[in-house]
Amino acid sequence: MAQIRLYPITQEQGVGRGVFAGGMGGAGFGGDDCLCGHCGTVMFVDFNLHTLLGDFVFQCRVCSEFNERPRTEAFPRLPLEDSEGRPPEDT
Ligand SMILES: [Zn+2]
Repeated sequence: MAQIRLYPITQEQGVGRGVFAGGMGGAGFGGDDCLCGHCGTVMFVDFNLHTLLGDFVFQCRVCSEFNERPRTEAFPRLPLEDSEGRPPEDT
């Protein structure tokens, strides 16, 4: 289990997207502790971010700011390559 700092976004970026409220803990599926990217509060305990594949944002219960999944290799953004793994438009 590791501590993962979520990626902070603005409230404007969170509008119209599925909001996952913070403050839930002990999902029990084996995961990581997720920290608010704004204030560092532990938002989720033992939470597996990989189970959330939708375009969710996470709202911190302490600072009310929005966060996204971390932008790391483990949590890739929407694929930018074509089916053969090449980047689009190699100009
Ligand atoms: Zn926060």
